[in-house]
Amino acid sequence: MKSLQTALVHSDYTPPEGFAALTSPIHHASTVLYENVAALRARVPGMDRSSYSYGLEGTPTTYELEARLAEIEGGVHCLLTPSGLGAIAVVDMALLQNGDEILIPDNVYGPSRELGDWLQTKFSITPRYYDPMIGAGISDLIRSNTRLIWTEAPGSVSMEVSDVPAICQVAHSRGVLVAMDNTWSAGLAFHPFEHGVDISVQALTKYQSGGSDVLMGAVITRDMALTQRLALAHHHLGFGVSKEDAYLVLRSLPTLKMRFDAHDVAARRVAAWLKERPEIAKVLHPAFPDCPGHEHWKRDFSGAGGVFSVLFNPRYSEAQTDRLIDALRYFKIGYSWGGAMSLCLPYRIQDMRTRWEGAGQLLRFNIGLEDPADLIADMQQAMESALG
Ligand SMILES: *Cc1c(COP(=O)(O)O)cnc(C)c1O
Repeated sequence: MKSLQTALVHSDYTPPEGFAALTSPIHHASTVLYENVAALRARVPGMDRSSYSYGLEGTPTTYELEARLAEIEGGVHCLLTPSGLGAIAVVDMALLQNGDEILIPDNVYGPSRELGDWLQTKFSITPRYYDPMIGAGISDLIRSNTRLIWTEAPGSVSMEVSDVPAICQVAHSRGVLVAMDNTWSAGLAFHPFEHGVDISVQALTKYQSGGSDVLMGAVITRDMALTQRLALAHHHLGFGVSKEDAYLVLRSLPTLKMRFDAHDVAARRVAAWLKERPEIAKVLHPAFPDCPGHEHWKRDFSGAGGVFSVLFNPRYSEAQTDRLIDALRYFKIGYSWGGAMSLCLPYRIQDMRTRWEGAGQLLRFNIGLEDPADLIADMQQAMESALG
């Protein structure tokens, strides 16, 4: 007979056999058990998903999510990170060292740029910011110590769509790796590996979660040797993810494309309405012909999701467009996107860029899953009350 205390640790409970469900179980674990010492000794650190080593590296729940995310983008391997920014950091930390240069598009996700600047002060890695419309002209920026080129198409605030295949072609001819922040397309509307990208990064926080309740990121690859380098940085940084959160993302995946497409349809309707308004100088939406890089979007992408921006006529001040945002009822004020609720954010774009030639206040929208007619009516009342 074991003592109660031991019974509290070693339960006799066995789950019923033959239990089957449509859902994936949530496997929590820090310690993972090995069958014997030989199995323990055989395990080598790195990207091995044929067995388990420790909760930080994953459990069946996270392995399943990794496999399904890789499949969506046409990748093979996937590492999960505690945030989208964490995924970007893994790539930088894995591939760069003191004295290296990275090329980053001028329209990159803001915290990614801040990370680049921090790498410079902390590790003497030099970020150089390039015109997102540079295309094959990136050749002139590549030096002998350029190790990595980041792309992001479109840039999620100003929406220029880079010529990613042209950048990849030049990069590969010079032996430089290309990483892409592919969050905007959710891995659905742009298939990075078909266009030459080596590493795709997703902020699962956005569409893959869809619930505005999870922070998670992913680094997706095809090449095993490259994946091993990334896995090593991931391991050294101790980047595990919550298995509950992984389950939440798994739960949202079946509706990912339906939600993305619904965001897309609604966003194009709202954007088309805005385009006709005299208050708006320009709609920055890749599906609209006057968006820089529209031709690349048309050639390389199969959809657009819910995120776009507008530039107001320069006669409106920041105070006026701030009032407009405050007057919106359905559009909430907050970062991120991919959830059911519409969001609106002002950006001081000229402060975020090395070069910006646009004029007028920039507002970015995440069009949620509301009826677009209600969103348009909301926008109209806010324009009338704030800009009158
Ligand atoms: C949100 C976002 C990220 C970062 O994701 P977090 O999970 O919030 O860290 C990175 N890139 C893009 C384009 C994003 O929109």
